Amino acid sequence: AGSGKFFVGGNWKCNGTKESISKLVSDLNDAKFETDVDVVVAPPFVYIDQVKSSLTNRIEVSAQNCWIGKGGAFTGEISGEQLKDVGCQWVILGHSERRHIIGENDEFIGKKAGYALSQGLGVIACIGELLSEREAGKTFDVCYQHMKAFADAVPSWDNVVIAYEPVWAIGTGKVATPVQAQEVHVAVRDWLKKNVSAEVASKTRIIYGGSVNGSNCTELAKQEDIDGFLVGGASLKGPEFASIVNSVS
Ligand code: PEP
Repeated sequence: AGSGKFFVGGNWKCNGTKESISKLVSDLNDAKFETDVDVVVAPPFVYIDQVKSSLTNRIEVSAQNCWIGKGGAFTGEISGEQLKDVGCQWVILGHSERRHIIGENDEFIGKKAGYALSQGLGVIACIGELLSEREAGKTFDVCYQHMKAFADAVPSWDNVVIAYEPVWAIGTGKVATPVQAQEVHVAVRDWLKKNVSAEVASKTRIIYGGSVNGSNCTELAKQEDIDGFLVGGASLKGPEFASIVNSVS
């Protein structure tokens, strides 16, 4: 891990029922976490209230998405103000499932990030290449393009955590090797140094996501530029998620 406080987020995606979430919250409440780690979970919108009212304050709550601006006549959307109102501290934006399944583009995602920050939410800003882009040697270019869209839209990086999530590794069981992940984290940090500032480059946490589990997290966490994880599948199991949180090194 790097010098920033280790950060582990659990992205529950579109999973769970009142019953399964009550069990997961109870397992998380019972878990022991290293003190020097930020721990965040992102339930589906409809369960945020249930989670907020039953989960220990040790764990912060994130949404998985939000609207680009102030609420109003936007059927089916949830605004940043509403997320704050129900006690969310974070929002995941630019997740590959929203980019590639829902069709969100860089500009739209950037707007969301700018607005969420203006409302006092922290942003987990996701970037990452498709397998075809990696095979075409475009990994860095794609990540830089995603970074630029965030950089153009955010007034400050203080409340931003960058999640590098290669799309080919998400939900596939095909985790990036520690070397592959570290290589991109360094490139993203260099990009911040050149395009934002040396201070932002050294302070901003860059976390890895893509099939992280209880068995592969320790080796990944040893990498100098990996400041934590965004975890999908394995975050639905309380004890395994806790072991990933505690892989900080
Ligand atoms: C994710 O959804 O951000 C993710 C990394 O999923 P998984 O851990 O299941 O690959």
